[in-house]
Amino acid sequence: MPIPDIRTHLPGPRAQQIIDRDTASVSPSYTRAYPFVMARGEGAVVEDVDGNRFLDCAAGIAVTSTGHCHPDVVQAITTQAGKFLHMSGTDFYYEDQVELAEQFGKLVPVGGAARAFFSNSGAEANEAAIKLARYHTKRQYIIAFLGGFHGRTMGALAMTASKAIQRKGFGPLMPGVYHAPYANCYRCPLGLKPESCSAECLGFIEDQLFVHLVSPDEVAAVMVEPIQGEGGYLVPPKVFLERLRVLTREHGILLIADEVQSGMGRSGKMFAIEHYGVQPDIVSVAKGIASGMPLGITASRADIMDWPPGAHASTFGGNPVSCAAALATIRLLRERLVANAADVGAHLMAGLKVMADRHPLIGDVRGKGLMIGIELVRDRQTKERAVEERNAVIQGAFRRGLLILGAGQNAIRLSPPLVLTKAEADIALRILDEALSEVEHR
Ligand code: PLP
Repeated sequence: MPIPDIRTHLPGPRAQQIIDRDTASVSPSYTRAYPFVMARGEGAVVEDVDGNRFLDCAAGIAVTSTGHCHPDVVQAITTQAGKFLHMSGTDFYYEDQVELAEQFGKLVPVGGAARAFFSNSGAEANEAAIKLARYHTKRQYIIAFLGGFHGRTMGALAMTASKAIQRKGFGPLMPGVYHAPYANCYRCPLGLKPESCSAECLGFIEDQLFVHLVSPDEVAAVMVEPIQGEGGYLVPPKVFLERLRVLTREHGILLIADEVQSGMGRSGKMFAIEHYGVQPDIVSVAKGIASGMPLGITASRADIMDWPPGAHASTFGGNPVSCAAALATIRLLRERLVANAADVGAHLMAGLKVMADRHPLIGDVRGKGLMIGIELVRDRQTKERAVEERNAVIQGAFRRGLLILGAGQNAIRLSPPLVLTKAEADIALRILDEALSEVEHR
């Protein structure tokens, strides 16, 4: 069957009915970029309720790592669902949770034996990370980065500094969080080039925060996304994370890598921080870990996870069906999909770089593996943000049968399932090319 295959106006009649019901009954706080109403999916292809078929380069916001309904994952879920759905790993035991902790512990690059805490989402994984950091260090302050997204629960939201609307009306947030500038090499405020810089942007922590606002010996942790996701798919230079590691170690501060979006193979390595050769103390994951089943994991070096029984727990965290899905996901990632993300990601990136020559709207193409950002600008010299144009390209892609999302103020993100083939990547490139041309010719 051809992909994409758009047979109705969008939204089609059935989709429109569901959207109308949603408008009347579902929280208006959700942001829907376009009216896609899912009926089913397989691999990187999704079908809506009117029978239109789309190529999915959004993966449910970077979640369906093994593709939609990978047979191995579906089999693992069904088998576990036939045995038991829930028993609460916080009060009882089941083998898959232990197996997952062991397997994850061998993968996570924290530089030694690890332990895992289980939750249900990225926000919860980060809540656990900051609670653990505070508990272990007996310090209170946290440093996070401008543009960072760490979740929307009150603790995680205090660290999130992505869009003001996400914080507006909810203050006061958890106190004790400071934000520093992230390495945005395309828009370096210091005018430096990534090839020759020494992550001077981190000087803000040493020369401003530590001098004027907080003593480093009171800082429990620095939380960082190794590749900033919602903030625009920003890839920092190696020296940024290397220097951050040196700085944190020097002051006994824990380094927390939020790999909720960048982890589980998306970057072409199991964890994005592995591209940097840096070992964090705590790692949080969610999204891609269980191919779409809700699961968060906060892992740390075993000596750091020293909190006693009762200190932290979650009724649903580490649900047995999610654990079974995660074990199947990890197997698939290790066998083929992390390598596929690197391979097809390089292919996609090369195609985008060629495309950038033809499209003045493209200011920057960046990313690793299948975590790729395309920043659109009105003028390559001034780098004026092409916000409306970015939104129009996303709409144009949707009408042509390609699902993509925005990131940051004016970037497009490509975060397809890691099963994407080169032929599918070429389809995505063709549609993007057309959508960009349409907007440029307006
Ligand atoms: N951390 C990062 C880096 C994320 O990208 C997200 C979600 O986009 C979160 C945390 C929050 O995850 P969740 O929406 O599962 O709470």
